[in-house]
Amino acid sequence: MGTRTPVHISAVRRRARSGRGPRRRTAPLAAAAAVALLAGSLAACGQEAKGGSRYKAEKGKGGTIGLAMPTKSSERWIADGKNMARQFKAAGYKADLQYGDDKVENQVAQIENMIAKGHRLLVVAAIDGSALTDVLRRAKEADVPVISYDRLLLGTENVDYYASFDNERVGELQGGYIVDKLKLDEKKDEKFNVELFAGSPDDNNTKFFWDGAMKVLRPYIEKGRIVVRSKQTKLNQTTTLRWDGGTAQKRMDDLLSKNYGSEEVDAVLSPYDGISIGILSALKSAGYGTGDKPYPIVTGQDAELASVKSILRGQQTQTVYKDTRKLARQAVQMGDAVLTGKKPEVNDTKTYDNGKKVVPAYLLKPVSIDKSNTQRLVDDGYYTAGQLK
Ligand code: BGC
Repeated sequence: MGTRTPVHISAVRRRARSGRGPRRRTAPLAAAAAVALLAGSLAACGQEAKGGSRYKAEKGKGGTIGLAMPTKSSERWIADGKNMARQFKAAGYKADLQYGDDKVENQVAQIENMIAKGHRLLVVAAIDGSALTDVLRRAKEADVPVISYDRLLLGTENVDYYASFDNERVGELQGGYIVDKLKLDEKKDEKFNVELFAGSPDDNNTKFFWDGAMKVLRPYIEKGRIVVRSKQTKLNQTTTLRWDGGTAQKRMDDLLSKNYGSEEVDAVLSPYDGISIGILSALKSAGYGTGDKPYPIVTGQDAELASVKSILRGQQTQTVYKDTRKLARQAVQMGDAVLTGKKPEVNDTKTYDNGKKVVPAYLLKPVSIDKSNTQRLVDDGYYTAGQLK
């Protein structure tokens, strides 16, 4: 990955590009009174408060930020939501935090509601990156800016900024870990059995994680040094809908029973800790995790507490730590800048093309964690030493 130079996209230029005219300036109090009056008269007429935020489109602090998160089934999204709500409050806003329970229709309804209530900004981590085009058009009509959070919103012009991690690097860390730990570059005459898992097909990150990992693993597969006994080496053969651990467990059960009679699997590429837990359960049922049949290398992502503990117990081998506090800080910085007419800080203006536009992004650095450096999580205050016991 090349080094990225920070660049700044001016809100003014963005406004000019998007063809929107300058905003009318009104004194904050007069504006607030106008909002109240309008809201009241809309309600009195029985009209829907659609596009309510149009009337709040003045620059400055205050108002409510809509935070649309995908699911509570994974710790990281709970932390992301809490961190953003806390930090937006500290920056002078209110926060409306909603979770879609991994159901696209819930998330659409939640975002519609946020627009109708006149929230000033939306921060969205999509369940399905392509499924929000219509509701985001409505956000645009209501003049509500949108920040894509960790997962890129696809097929829409109506997304202003993207805050995430360097997602291809996440995959490189996972693939590179397998190459290092199998000592593929030292034991040049040996072959190793590896199976491959990918994330949810409707999440744009999945392809980045996969491409990063396969960039490292593919040359060894082509030379026959890594053997994928299932022959499932394509992205569409390895995805896991909604990142579901149970789905991954079933696939791993199947892979083991069909391909590993007398042979053993040496490593499993897993893109996410919840998937790794499913894979480890299947491995355990097939007799792995004992003295003469140790667990293979199993990667992961998110440094979720259960997985960090599993690493310390010698079950899962690796995870990728992405400090959600820093990601939240980045999204809050972007949101606050957009609302107060400042320049959001971005460091990538090339990589994230969503099919309609290249979304200016701020990408943070992921860190590989295994048994040797879990202390990093304590030093950073991500977990307490007590939590890791
Ligand atoms: C995130 C990962 C997470 C996965 C499953 C992805 O979009 O980038 O951090 O492991 O979703 O929740």
